[in-house]
Amino acid sequence: MGWQMTGRFGISPQLLLGLSLGVLLSASCRQIWAVVASRLTRDDDSTYAQGRIQTKGDDEAVKSEIRVGVEGLIGNTPLMKVKSLSDATGCEILAKVEMMNPGGSAKDRIALAIVEQAEADGLLRPNSGDVVYEGTSGSTGISLAMICRAKGYRAHICLPDDTSTEKVDLLEKLGAEVEKVPPASIVDRRQYVNQARARATDRNNDDSVEGRGLFADQFENEANWKAHCDHTGPEIYKQTGGNVDVFVTGAGTGGTISGVSRYLKQKLPKLKVVLADPPGSGLYNKVKYGVMFDIMEREGTRRRHQVDTLVEGIGINRVTRNFDVGMPLVDDAIRVTDKESLAMAKFLVEHDGLFVGSSTAVNCVAAAKYALKIGPGHTIVTIICDSGTRHLSKFWKAVGPVGGELPAVPLEDILNLSSTASTSRANTPVNG
Ligand code: PMP
Repeated sequence: MGWQMTGRFGISPQLLLGLSLGVLLSASCRQIWAVVASRLTRDDDSTYAQGRIQTKGDDEAVKSEIRVGVEGLIGNTPLMKVKSLSDATGCEILAKVEMMNPGGSAKDRIALAIVEQAEADGLLRPNSGDVVYEGTSGSTGISLAMICRAKGYRAHICLPDDTSTEKVDLLEKLGAEVEKVPPASIVDRRQYVNQARARATDRNNDDSVEGRGLFADQFENEANWKAHCDHTGPEIYKQTGGNVDVFVTGAGTGGTISGVSRYLKQKLPKLKVVLADPPGSGLYNKVKYGVMFDIMEREGTRRRHQVDTLVEGIGINRVTRNFDVGMPLVDDAIRVTDKESLAMAKFLVEHDGLFVGSSTAVNCVAAAKYALKIGPGHTIVTIICDSGTRHLSKFWKAVGPVGGELPAVPLEDILNLSSTASTSRANTPVNG
């Protein structure tokens, strides 16, 4: 035996030792490399794991989740925890990010539903010259213009002549025909909604033009609230695992509040529904006291617009069909001043990097106020209706400087917790 000895397979002990050392060395090198590699990749993974992007482990190529056309991108929007508001109130404040629809707002859902319902009723036929008419100064026109292009129709949008330029430009770039009319009361024949209805009727009465006209009628058309009852509500229910105490949102047509409430309340009878209402809107008093009236409507104070606020998209002075179907389900209302919504918009950028439009700022003020009223430990869901980019020339202009060296203002300081009085700033307002 000894070092000179050869083994059973004719291998000398020195060779055996050398081979063993080699194997050991290469194994430990591999281990060291594996540890280094895993360190490097774990850093990446943990960063991604906090967000939405999950790339590791997805290296198996599976063809799935291909959405068909822009219609296929509508809905299934994320639900986001608004960290600043949740931390400040002790409630979980969640926001359904409707601005992530392809047309940039929840109105994509109702534009698609209205067009699909009309197709099912035989009122629209693709590529036959049919035109969809709507009176809207809000996002509905943009969503309709997008859906019409995608499905082979033309869109004709009537709007007040002082609608923000970014919306008019966008409509035109989506190939819609834009008709501007002077702002007028709903009882005026030339009011933009009435004008759109009249245009559709004229087209249908004129045998010399090809294609029919459809008045989309978002305020009265029941496809609106049904789209939210069939989709937005169930999505919120699933995303929260049915754990929602309060749903807070504003109302323009009323489709969102009615549709979501009708679905959620039947699943969660204890849910509280809270209307967030801007200055000049009569809905706050309608919900609280059963009377449709706002202080701005008193004798001698009637302005150019029905609803007098910087906020666009919500607030109205009549009960639409879409609000009516959900009104008995609305438990409470919160008045939000322009001062509060402007401060909230700034607060959300400074704390969360979240750049939202005016109606979303109103929703977030109401959600935060309600959270402070009911105390910590509750889950409150609201809506991020659209992005601040749609509101740069009006609402965001009034917000003033953002960020900088100044210390951020605490949440309590931006909420007027003692008062529900409205402090309007300008006569620029619109809904739908
Ligand atoms: N926010 C914006 C920006 C809107 O355009 C609208 C619709 N008018 C709303 C909120 C309110 O939605 P709804 O019409 O469903 O009440």
